[in-house]
Amino acid sequence: MSDGSLLDDALVRLDEAARHLNVDPDVVEKLKYARETTKVRLMIRMDDGSRKSFLAWRCRYDDTRGPTKGGIRYHPDAHVEEVETLAFWMTFKCAVMNLPYGGGKGAVRVDPRQLSKAELERLSRAYMQAFARTVGPDRDIPAPDVYTNSMIMGWMADEYAQIVGQAVPAVITGKPIALGGSLGRGDATARGGYYLVRHLADDLKLGKVMRVAVQGFGNAGQYVAQLLAGDGHRIVAVSDSQGAVYAGNGLNVEALLAAKARGKSVMATVGQHGHEALDPDKIVGVQCELLVPAALENMIHAENAKSVRAKLILELANGPVTPEADEILAKADVVVLPDILANAGGVTVSYFEWVQNRQGYYWTEQEIHGRLQSIMEREGRTIWELSRQRGIPMRTGAYVHALGRLAEAIEAHGTQSFFTS
Ligand code: GLU
Repeated sequence: MSDGSLLDDALVRLDEAARHLNVDPDVVEKLKYARETTKVRLMIRMDDGSRKSFLAWRCRYDDTRGPTKGGIRYHPDAHVEEVETLAFWMTFKCAVMNLPYGGGKGAVRVDPRQLSKAELERLSRAYMQAFARTVGPDRDIPAPDVYTNSMIMGWMADEYAQIVGQAVPAVITGKPIALGGSLGRGDATARGGYYLVRHLADDLKLGKVMRVAVQGFGNAGQYVAQLLAGDGHRIVAVSDSQGAVYAGNGLNVEALLAAKARGKSVMATVGQHGHEALDPDKIVGVQCELLVPAALENMIHAENAKSVRAKLILELANGPVTPEADEILAKADVVVLPDILANAGGVTVSYFEWVQNRQGYYWTEQEIHGRLQSIMEREGRTIWELSRQRGIPMRTGAYVHALGRLAEAIEAHGTQSFFTS
């Protein structure tokens, strides 16, 4: 088995799970294909008066368990297969957490850092115009993903309200608080992963003070560094798209966050607080106990998996480890807490936001944290026990757990169903 295409690699995990579960082959067949993927070209006016077009997609992968749910990514390398793979992962992620959702995903092929704020707003509104009939609070509910944020979700919510003639906050999650966003959504992805690691710390025999390397210093990476440093762990290496920094005795996390808040790279801190520059390709092999990939897919692959020194990998990114790397890591006794569980805190608090929007009744931050923690611990514990009992990796355990729920729903719909056809 070699590092294949993204979707093929994702389907390897589905086949693997099916081998451990007595499911109808029709169920597996259904889950191999996206239900619908729409491609559009968005034309927007640039600040200099010219017009520019951008490719954009929205995929509703599977809606058997409920409306499709998943973020919108802005990235210069976005492509249709990536969108469908991310939507496949959302399908399993929502099932792992028992959220009443299917899986979806969207993307625009754009480097948002090249756009002015006004251009970004026009692009985001154009996306919502193009997909206004695809999305809906009971149909398909977008959210933030790589290089999108609450400001963009706010513009999209506003555009949707203008199109349908009334505010429908539950059509999109990750909104600004002022537009019906939820407390605790900002750090939810990192916080969910942090609760999971804390809950399994004794089972995994983790030390009180771990050295941690974080690859990717966006929303998830920054918050997880902050949460782990707050518990006394040492963040020894972090990287972003511009480079990586290292300090054996622990980086100054406040200084890193301050650099990012100024729109700078973590590299801006080199030479201060004992921070040294590190080859970003070397971060995967840094001497540490916990490695947190928090950037993009396929970061740990057949070539660099052998260099991993960590005992534990927390996948805050989607799809950071290839199937071939999984095998190498398993042989080396490295435990991988898989994306569809480890980073599910984000979509879980998105679900809380959607529930609050529909009730028109808002919870405290403490309530959000408490509910997130209990769901992470409940599903994390179940998958841990399942993996131990069957002697399978946590990833396979998570897929088996989710596939069981998906199979039950697919079968419950019946063979003539519109949803399962
Ligand atoms: N983009 C996030 C993910 O990959 C969050 C999705 C959501 O909140 O719907 O899980």
